[in-house]
Amino acid sequence: MKEISCKLLVIGAGPGGYVCAIRAGQLGVDTMIVEAKKPGGTCLNVGCIPSKALIHAADEFFKVHEMAAGSDPLGISLASPAIDMGKTVAWKDRIVGRLNTGVAGLLKKAKVKSIEGWARFCDGKTVEVETETGRQVIRAETIVIATGSTPVELPFLPFGGKIISSTEALSLNAVPSTLAVVGGGYIGLELGTAFAKLGSRVMVVEALPRILPLYDAELTKPVAKRLSELGVTVLTGAKAKGLSQSGEALVVEDNGKTQEIPADRVLVTVGRKPATEGWGIEEIDLDRSGPFIRVDERCHTSMRGVYAIGDVTGEPMLAHRAIAQGEMVAEIVAGHRRGWDKRAIPAVCFTDPEVVAVGMSPEEARQTGAELKIGQFPFSANGRAMTLQGEAGFVRVVARADNHLVLGIQAVGSGVSELSAAFSLAIEMGARLEDIAGTIHAHPTQSEGFQEAALKALGQALHA
Ligand code: FAD
Ligand code: NAD
Repeated sequence: MKEISCKLLVIGAGPGGYVCAIRAGQLGVDTMIVEAKKPGGTCLNVGCIPSKALIHAADEFFKVHEMAAGSDPLGISLASPAIDMGKTVAWKDRIVGRLNTGVAGLLKKAKVKSIEGWARFCDGKTVEVETETGRQVIRAETIVIATGSTPVELPFLPFGGKIISSTEALSLNAVPSTLAVVGGGYIGLELGTAFAKLGSRVMVVEALPRILPLYDAELTKPVAKRLSELGVTVLTGAKAKGLSQSGEALVVEDNGKTQEIPADRVLVTVGRKPATEGWGIEEIDLDRSGPFIRVDERCHTSMRGVYAIGDVTGEPMLAHRAIAQGEMVAEIVAGHRRGWDKRAIPAVCFTDPEVVAVGMSPEEARQTGAELKIGQFPFSANGRAMTLQGEAGFVRVVARADNHLVLGIQAVGSGVSELSAAFSLAIEMGARLEDIAGTIHAHPTQSEGFQEAALKALGQALHA
């Protein structure tokens, strides 16, 4: 058994862990990182990146499919298109492969030692790793737990065969003719929409009264409308019960009635749970917050010298939160004075249309007791949106009425994920309505809708 030591050991090379290790390495901290699978974690290998690749492929296919149907207003016509999912998945895998190599290269450049294998705590300073060449013991002054999350399994719909999680859905070699999606949240709707565009007959079963319950209802209406246009059936307030006796259909209880939904595949996307099993959490005495590891504003756990970052620490389980935590912890370990001081974590859902929310929703802002000014501008009045055939949706700015401090910004519309940077910057810099209204926004762009929403809140709208 080999024994080595370092100042910082990071467990898990997802976006939280690898960013933490790179930053620590850049700051001259003697750093090691252990990863059981491939660098990049859920995000890069079976999450953010592959899902957005599939969504893009589906959008492209759907576009030409619509053109081939002969009703294209742009006057483009073509013969019946087809998609070879094997090639689509291979293209997605090449992107993932390039990014895997990129992350490994960045770790090396930052002089981080990467170890492949499954890590297990022996005590608060010692970790054992099962590597291909044998067992390795690592002693570290500081340890960062960045083990991420895994899909939640429903006991009556265990993964296997036709019942799949997002991981399998991202590598199917054929488009299922019928797809039942259990859970109308982020993954269910992003992937459900993509498969509908690829040709699947999709039915979404959501337990709550509406889809994407994380966002305010007005923001999700254009998404629900588009799902219906795409032929996706959405059952809300409905519960999946299991597979039918023949195994051909999903049994669903919908408002007291039981029905069977034919399904070649059943995609279960009912949330993710922190990865807290199998790495010896019981060997160290860590406080929990529900199922997650409890951390303070510096991502420190209840054990000295042990930090935790990313999905394993709770909601929102988003890659950019994990990245920000990773960067912060690396600087703390290097001796910098840092704490979590972010005003907002943007949330983006890559549905059709896309949804963005940064800061407080109107309802959350009302709950602060402040009087508000709210400006909402529709993309149907935005020239660029018209030229992109993306008139659905709007931008909304929520500000305090007294000093015009912007509390929240939301948008729903085609391609609005790219507006999230401007929204986040405005909130992070403490922008007032006048700052947004007084900034020249390039014409013609969808971002003009942001400026117009701020103008509208000030009672000075120009184009609405
Ligand atoms: P992870 O990325 O889960 O990485 C943890 C790593 O730790 C894994 O590689 C795992 O193998 C390793 N590990 C665990 N235990 C051990 C051990 N004992 N020893 C060694 N290695 C170990 N977020 C967004 O912000 N935007 C999106 O568009 C988005 N899309 C998503 C789409 C899908 C389909 C899914 C599933 C998720 C998506 N997410 C998205 C969420 C995002 O992937 C996660 O928030 C993010 O990956 C969390 O990063 P992390 O570093 O905490 O953990
Ligand atoms: P989610 O929490 O977004 O959605 C789960 C949905 O399933 C909810 O609407 C919930 O009400 C519903 N549900 C729960 N139990 C159910 C049941 N028994 N029957 C029917 N519906 C049920 O979870 P997800 O879609 O699995 O995604 C997991 C996490 O991954 C997200 O919370 C998010 O943090 C992350 N993610 C982010 C993005 C992004 O940022 N664009 C994309 C994908 C995933």
